[in-house]
Amino acid sequence: MGGAVLQQMRMIDLMQELFPICRSITGNGLRQTFEIIKKIIPITIYEVPSGTKVFDWTIPREWNVREAFVEDMSGKRVIDFAENNLHLLGYSVPVDAVFSLETLQNHLYSLPDQPTAIPYITSYYSERWGFCLEHARRQALTAGEYRVRIDSDLSEGSLTYADLVIPGETEEEIFFSTYVCHPSMANDELSGPVVATFLAQKIMALPRRKYTYRFVFAPETIGALTYLSRHLGHLRAHTKAGFNLSCIGDDRAWSYVASPRADSYADKIMANALRFVEGPVHAYSFLERASDERQYCAPGVDLPLVTVCRSRFGMYPEYHTSLDNFDLVSEKALNESLSLLLDCCRAIEENCRPRACVIGEPQLGKRGLYATLSQVGSSNPSAILVDILAYADGTRDVFDLSTLLNLPTATIVQHLNILRREKLVE
Ligand code: ZN
Repeated sequence: MGGAVLQQMRMIDLMQELFPICRSITGNGLRQTFEIIKKIIPITIYEVPSGTKVFDWTIPREWNVREAFVEDMSGKRVIDFAENNLHLLGYSVPVDAVFSLETLQNHLYSLPDQPTAIPYITSYYSERWGFCLEHARRQALTAGEYRVRIDSDLSEGSLTYADLVIPGETEEEIFFSTYVCHPSMANDELSGPVVATFLAQKIMALPRRKYTYRFVFAPETIGALTYLSRHLGHLRAHTKAGFNLSCIGDDRAWSYVASPRADSYADKIMANALRFVEGPVHAYSFLERASDERQYCAPGVDLPLVTVCRSRFGMYPEYHTSLDNFDLVSEKALNESLSLLLDCCRAIEENCRPRACVIGEPQLGKRGLYATLSQVGSSNPSAILVDILAYADGTRDVFDLSTLLNLPTATIVQHLNILRREKLVE
C-alpha cells in the first residue's frame, strides 16, 4: 500500500470525497464509489445483470441520471438535482413535460415538521417520478406552470457490489457488511463504508491473523440478497461472527440490533464491548431490525450477526434527510467506532478458554507477581490475576471473563499472557 499518504488520510476526508456521488441500488454512482474505496483497500468489484433471480427477488434495471430539474416559465430552476442529489426521488423514470403546480404537487415530497430538510425517498420497484425538497421551498412555489425534466435511464444493466477477503491461518471467518446505496448522507450511510474501509486496512496490517476476514460492500437488501445467493453455503459453514455496520459516525449513543436468538458469538462480543463505552447503550431485539440483518439473520441463512450503530437508523431526527450531513458526524466518533471494532477483532483473535494448571490458588509471591504490601482499596494487578485464575476452569472464554470481572478484553488478554508465561494457565 502507498504507506504514508494513506496513513494520513482521515475517515472524514474519504467521506467528503464520497458524499456528492449519487448512489443508488444500481448505477454508475456505485462504481465510482468502489473505485475510490479501491484506492485504499484491494476490493474486488462484481457486476450482476438486471433480471437475475436472487431468491424471491429479481435484480432491477440499472438507473442512471444525467440531469433533473424543475424550472418556472422564466427558465429559473426552482429544484435542481445538480444542487443536491437528494432532490430527485431515487429511480425516477424520465420525464420532459410542462405541468401545472397543482399536478406537480402530486410528485413533490417534503417534511412539514422539518421545513429545512430535503427528505430521502426512493421507488425502486414501482415506476414513478418525483422531487424531494425543503417544505419551506415548496411553500414558496407560486401558482402557474413548471417544466419538469428528468434525463434518466432505467435500462438493462447490472447491480454492482464489492468484497474483500483477507486470508488468515484458518478458513473460519469474521464477516463485516455495510451498504452503499444512499446518495448524499453522512451517518446513514457513509459512516458504514468509511469505517469498514479503514478497519479492513487495519486488519490487513495485523502481523498475524488466525481468522479470515470478509468485508462486503453492497446495496442494501437487494445487494445483501445477491451476495447471499452466491455465497450462502460458504458463509453458513465458515462465519464465526458477523457485524453489519450502519450509522456509526455520530457521537450520541451506541446501539446494536441483536440476532434473532440474541445468543450468537457476535451478540456476546458486542454486548461485552459496549459495556465499556461511555454514555448510554441501547440493545435492540431483532424485532427492531431494519438493515441488512434482515437478510443475514433470516431463517435458512442464520448467520451469527449483529448490526452495530451509534444512533440507530430511524431513531435520530436527521435520518434520511439532507440534515444527515457533516454537522452530525465527526472524525472523533468515526475513530471511536473504528477502535471499538478493531478491539473486538483483537479480542476474537486472542480468545481462548483458559484452564488453571494448579490446584488451589498458586503462590504468586514466589513468582514475583504478588504486590507484597497489601493496602486496602489499592488497585492491585495481582488481584486481576487471582480473579482470572478463580474462574479459569476451561469453560469460560475471554469475553466471559471480561464480563465477569468488568474489565475490558484487552486487560484480560494482557493478564492471561502473564499467567501463560508463568505456566499457571493452559
Ligand atoms: Zn437508510
